[in-house]
Amino acid sequence: MKVAVIGGGPMGLAAAYELLARGHSVTLYEADDRLGGMSASFMFDGIRIERYYHFICKSDQPLFDMLEELGIADTLRWRVTRMGYYYLGKIRDWGEPIALLKFPGLGLVSKIRYGLLAFTSTKRRDWTKLDSIDAVTWLKKWVGDRAYEVLWHPLFDLKFYHYTPNLSAAWIWSRLRRVGTSRRNIFQEEMGYLEGGSDTFLERIAQVIQEKGGVIHLRRRVEEVLIEDGRVSGVRTSGGSEHYDRVISTIPMPYVSKMIPALPEGTRAGYDSVNNIAVVCVLVHLEQPLTRYFWLNISDPEIDIPGFIEYSNLNPGGGHIVYAPFYIPGEHPDYQREDGFFIDKVRRYLRAVNPDLPDSAILKIAAGRYRYAQPICEPEFAKRLPPISPGIDGLFVADTCYYYPEDRSISESVQLGRKLARMAAGDG
Ligand SMILES: Cc1cc2nc3c(=O)[nH]c(=O)nc-3n(C[C@H](O)[C@H](O)[C@H](O)COP(=O)(O)OP(=O)(O)OC[C@H]3O[C@@H](n4cnc5c(N)ncnc54)[C@H](O)[C@@H]3O)c2cc1C
Repeated sequence: MKVAVIGGGPMGLAAAYELLARGHSVTLYEADDRLGGMSASFMFDGIRIERYYHFICKSDQPLFDMLEELGIADTLRWRVTRMGYYYLGKIRDWGEPIALLKFPGLGLVSKIRYGLLAFTSTKRRDWTKLDSIDAVTWLKKWVGDRAYEVLWHPLFDLKFYHYTPNLSAAWIWSRLRRVGTSRRNIFQEEMGYLEGGSDTFLERIAQVIQEKGGVIHLRRRVEEVLIEDGRVSGVRTSGGSEHYDRVISTIPMPYVSKMIPALPEGTRAGYDSVNNIAVVCVLVHLEQPLTRYFWLNISDPEIDIPGFIEYSNLNPGGGHIVYAPFYIPGEHPDYQREDGFFIDKVRRYLRAVNPDLPDSAILKIAAGRYRYAQPICEPEFAKRLPPISPGIDGLFVADTCYYYPEDRSISESVQLGRKLARMAAGDG
């Protein structure tokens, strides 16, 4: 069978890999000049690094299985990492019981309630009850109004803006659980990375795909999925039209209805109904460490990012690297601002968090952006999505929304990519 895979992020690559393993002929189309999508890398001040920060958690089993199959499991590294909180003008420890007890601005009862939430979130398996309630109500029930205002409200406002009151509790819980279970013990968080970054995985899977006869086209945007008599007949790109028996799309949902105009109106409306947050991510190469924390949450009225991610405190393999993400709804006027607007802010924020950091320690600073970086998952989110097989023979459509309540991750995309391939092959 001849299959086209649209999108060369982890999901598209995993789908192509799985189809080839099942003996099918595969062509993968990627619009960008490189593979990886959100997990792609670029050269930054002489360092090959992901455009956006990436860490691996202990629950990322589908990724571990894939690394094993690709023969690169030995590139996986684990490191004890620290979490901090910049609050009331000072950096404080965060993410373990003693730090919680010492944290200012919260009473003992709030702290105990917060600890219970963190603990039970790692133990919970069934999320169905959380699916229909909103995260703010759920969190306030667990930790109380005051702790919500101190710990969650500022972070939510900076990440989800006006969507905050209507986020799925199941979705927020799954994020708490993913990070909360990635620990060496109750006092130590442990995160993973690949030697060489996500590129190690991307390059190896692309190599295997090509060795097995798969074709990868870069800079080749699929302009239309062709449909004849209710079934897929091929794809049209700038290079012309090509016949396929099956088409798998893994591109972000908001692009789908334009790319497949022949879909029924209701299905197209389903794809268009998903809201997404964009990210402008400022990347900084420093001469010295900013802090000793991998993840520094920030709650400060003068700083409008939810935190700094000091990537080199996870992966020490290349300079002192800090990411500063500005999450912004794509339709917000700030998203149209030039990179310099965000870069200037980050220069100020770096100094606020570490007043001893001289300006000269900033070796290089740059900004990158991704329009559809974070789908917004409301209560009962899965119900609004059209099915993966949206009623056109031979067509399969999914993106990161389709592993709700799990948050976007390389591991989840790999798992879903393989499932899409099994469905397209008629084996699952
Ligand atoms: C700021 C940020 C931080 C993150 N942190 C982590 C983390 O710590 N750990 C983790 O595991 N994950 C993290 N992720 C998520 C992870 O990067 C994604 O889950 C993963 O890359 C999704 O892969 P995908 O293939 O599903 O989609 P995408 O990465 O979105 O890939 C889709 C691809 O489709 C291509 N495309 C679009 N339109 C077309 C078209 N018409 N024709 C052909 N190609 C097209 C795009 O160019 C893109 O390459 C993060 C993401 C962001 C943005």
